[in-house]
Amino acid sequence: MKRIAILGATGSIGTQALEVARERPDFVKIEVLTAACNADLLISQALEFLPKTVVITDESKYPLVKKALAATSIEVLTGSEALNEVVKSTSIDMVLTALVGFAGLRPTVAAIEAGKDIALANKETLVVAGEHIMALAKQHHVKIIPVDSEHSAIFQCLAGESLDSVEKIYLTASGGPFRGRNKDFLAHITKKEALKHPNWVMGQKITIDSASLMNKGLEVIEAKWLFNLSIEQIEVVVHPQSIVHSLVQFKDGSLKAQLGLPDMKLPIQYALSYPGRLVNSFRRFRFIDYPQLSFEQPDLETFANLRLAYSAIKEGGNMPCVLNAANEIAVAAFLNEEIGFLEMSVIIEETMQAIPFILSPSLSDYVSMDEEARRVAKELVTKRKKVYQIEK
Ligand code: NAD
Ligand code: MG
Repeated sequence: MKRIAILGATGSIGTQALEVARERPDFVKIEVLTAACNADLLISQALEFLPKTVVITDESKYPLVKKALAATSIEVLTGSEALNEVVKSTSIDMVLTALVGFAGLRPTVAAIEAGKDIALANKETLVVAGEHIMALAKQHHVKIIPVDSEHSAIFQCLAGESLDSVEKIYLTASGGPFRGRNKDFLAHITKKEALKHPNWVMGQKITIDSASLMNKGLEVIEAKWLFNLSIEQIEVVVHPQSIVHSLVQFKDGSLKAQLGLPDMKLPIQYALSYPGRLVNSFRRFRFIDYPQLSFEQPDLETFANLRLAYSAIKEGGNMPCVLNAANEIAVAAFLNEEIGFLEMSVIIEETMQAIPFILSPSLSDYVSMDEEARRVAKELVTKRKKVYQIEK
């Protein structure tokens, strides 16, 4: 039996993790559920799974949640700081980090310091502070098990292997809804078009990141830290069917891949059950449905975000943190229809140029860097917004 805290229970990963818990109540016990502002869903999840504690970080929703759960013994907390506290509870074995963006960093640090294993969905934590997080996990003898499908694939391929025998890894990318399109096309796409992912149903932020290939850039950085690789050892290959979830190439030239239907329940369940595997009733892959699997090069010229992510991690230091913060602001502005699709890359690049380089940031440096990069990116959005509105 694993006792789990789910940070971001009402999102795409969070709700799928609860489907896993529903499927295997003999194996998964939900101890903590948290959400930013979706009080109604959090309440219904709490009434179904009866955790010890729930957190609604939006303080204005606290009275609603408190009242709805008054007849139960569930403790109700509010505010972002509460996330850093609940992860320390002695009744938890593992924390699933399924919240979005930089907000995942501090609760993940708190959970590691409390000795909790991490099922890591929140890739931004490793993008921002991967070196710091991996060292902290080692120090506290904590396992960080990837939930991201590509990283789960690599992790599964490495079972029984030594990291020393890896030559390189291939991260597969679906290519998103705009694969094969050029910049002229991307200049005019709408929010609605960008939110239509061909293979996966996910939260809004990662869906936009997938359309811009920033998601793959973030995943390259995530993989570097998780598997202790150099950037030269990580290659992205576009695979539109999303069946081969990623591959490892070993020193003898042998390739191992992990395959499956595009369904996040599988990597979520593996992260919870690792090193074991659990029987489930999820849909199975059939070769007849996929007579062809294809592979192509990513287009770094059209999808500048992937190129920017590579250059951020090559520079190192605070640059991935700056890239991440600027991207969060740019994606939010695109979703608010304040800027166009291509402007996102411009804002990220200009923010990276504007922020001074720091080689070895501390955890508090990351927090201030994140704030500073957001401020710069917001200013750039405001300038661009005017141009965009006139052009529209
Ligand atoms: P989502 O937007 O669907 O859900 C996010 C959850 O986190 C919600 O419960 C929300 O209430 C909570 N949350 C959001 N911002 C918060 C904040 N500032 N403070 C506290 N709680 C907050 O997102 P998602 O698609 O489930 O993605 C979650 C994470 O998993 C992201 O880092 C994403 O990159 C990663 N991931 C997602 C998928 C997927 O299929 N959705 C796949 C791989 C990796
Ligand atoms: Mg992924």
